[in-house]
Order: sequence, then structure tokens, then C-alpha cells
Amino acid sequence: MIDLRSDTVTKPDDRMRDAAYTADVGDDVYGEDPTVNELERKAADLVGTDAALYVPTGTMGNQIAARVHTERGEELLADRKSHVVKYELGGAADHSGLQVRMVDAERGVLSPDQVAHGIVEEDLHRPGTGLVWLENTHNARGGLAIAPEKIAGAAEAAHERDVPVHLDGARLCNAATALDVPVSEITAPVDSVMFCLSKGLGAPIGSMLAGSEEFIENARRVRKLFGGGMRQAGIIAAPGLEALENVDDLERDHEHAALLAEGLDGIDGFDVQPPETNIVLADISETGLETETVLERLAEADVLATQFGPTTVRFCTHRNVSHEEIETALERIEAAI
Ligand SMILES: *Cc1c(COP(=O)(O)O)cnc(C)c1O
Repeated sequence: MIDLRSDTVTKPDDRMRDAAYTADVGDDVYGEDPTVNELERKAADLVGTDAALYVPTGTMGNQIAARVHTERGEELLADRKSHVVKYELGGAADHSGLQVRMVDAERGVLSPDQVAHGIVEEDLHRPGTGLVWLENTHNARGGLAIAPEKIAGAAEAAHERDVPVHLDGARLCNAATALDVPVSEITAPVDSVMFCLSKGLGAPIGSMLAGSEEFIENARRVRKLFGGGMRQAGIIAAPGLEALENVDDLERDHEHAALLAEGLDGIDGFDVQPPETNIVLADISETGLETETVLERLAEADVLATQFGPTTVRFCTHRNVSHEEIETALERIEAAI
């Protein structure tokens, strides 16, 4: 089976399993797990913040950020296709009482004008905007790598109006790799950032939330509130430390995605744009087949992908798929269609 559904399907390698087995641990709710503490320090260094917090999932990291930055009833300003809008069960409303104001942002990143016009000032009738939300890479728009200048432009417009900015960087290291810039250059303008260890970096579990000392102190309380205070978490944080060593491997996933996209585009009825990172979106409308049918035929040929809109199939490359497997997948897909 060649599983291209997501980069979350990667399995921990021997290095990670060994690291988990031998991890030095303590009670992390008491701040006494040396492995978690090391991971939090290294993650903060990577993104250039004062502090970081280990969280079980990217969703929890995002939801904690929304809660810490805002007051109930405020607005959260985000691109219509952002993960927090589409795939977090309305958590911003549920956990933090936020009203989400959505805009259609080109390439998924709000322009300074969209931020300026999207922010509402608090008055007798309007709740005020509590948080501006950005995403990089942008998942639903096809793994787009958003340049640091675009992040900075949106952040500056928000900060001029005293509104903080959170970056959902689930695949932040993919963005930095594609743009060939240090991760910290992308994150410098924002007030908090979440990135996943459990996607392309290959850890079995975990994400990092990073920001100022004060932000992380508050985030630690909200993590406990949300039920995410963990005890000997070094067992799962140790593979996360190994995952931080895998950043340079993402380049290979991007090359595989480019190869996959080129091959797919050559298949009758598939329309595929060159990918920027490890996500490939294929428009299959010209095949004349239902997306479900395409996915079924692929599965029968031992290739897995996911539906991503009415006529779009998403393929995602990752560290457990080799160059040869991409070529094999292309042969199987062509035969199946
Ligand atoms: C995967 C993802 C998340 C959530 O991460 P989980 O660990 O699956 O909860 C958040 N944002 C984006 C853009 C993602 O792709």
C-alpha cells in the first residue's frame, strides 16, 4: 500500500522508538520532565521565541492560542479556508466563545488591507477583534509556502491596531524549506506559533506552541484546563526531539511531490498545478468520474489519497514514501483511471 493520504501517517523509526524507550522522564505538570523541557527549549530556539510548550496535538495548540489571546465574544479574523475554520470543529466558538470573521485571502494569507478592513473596533455594537490568524503552509489551498514578507505585512497591519497574530504553522518547516529561509524569519513578526512534530517531521505524537514567556505561562494553564497537562510525557517528547533533526529531509518530500504532480498532470483528466511543498491537489473533473470513484479505484490499486473538495483529490508526500514508490504510484494511478 502506498499511503499518500497525509504526512500524519508516518510511523516512528527505530531511532524514535529507542529515544522513547531510553527517555529520561519526570512529572511534566510539575515542570520536572527533562526531556520535555529540552524539547521546549529546542523548539523555542528553532522558531526564535523565548519559550515553547509541548502539546499533544496541533489542534490543541491552536485552540490554546485562541483562548490565551482573546476575551469571550471577540472576533477571530481568518482566511475562509484556514484549518481553524474548516477542521477544528468550530473550537474557537466552543472553547473560547469567539465569533469567526472569514475573508477570502489570496493564497490564504490576508493582505494588509484585508487585515485593516477585517478588524472591527470595539464599541457599543461590535465586539472587537481579539486575534488575527495566519496559516503556513496553507493546507487547504494546496500546501502553499507563504513568504515571510506576506506574514510580516499582515502582522504589521494587525499590530498597528493592537491586535495579536497567531500563526498556524502545522507545516511551518515545510514552508521554511521551500522558501529557503530560516524558520525564525517566518515567525519573527507573529505573537505565537504552533507547529506539528507529527506531520512531515515524523514524530508519532505532538506539536509545539511557542511565544513569549508570558504567553507560554498562560498557555500552560489553558493546556491544563483543556485536559492536556501530561505526566511522564518525556516518553512521547523524546521522539519529538528526534523529529527536530528531520527538518532537512523535507526537501526530499517536496521533490517527490513535484515528481508526483508532474506525473499526475500527464494522466488523462487530471489537472495538477506544480506544488510548492509536499501537498499535491489534483482536479479530477475532466475524468468524468466522481471523486469517490477515483479514490476507490486508487485504493483497489493500493494507492491511498483523500478527497479535498467536490472534484479535488489530495496527495501528500512524506518520509515513509520513497522515490520508487512515487513512480509505482503513478503507474498504478494511470492504470486505475
Ligand atoms: C494538521 C493540521 C492542524 C492540526 O494538527 P493535529 O495534530 O492533527 O491536531 C492544524 N493546522 C493545520 C494547517 C494542519 O494541517
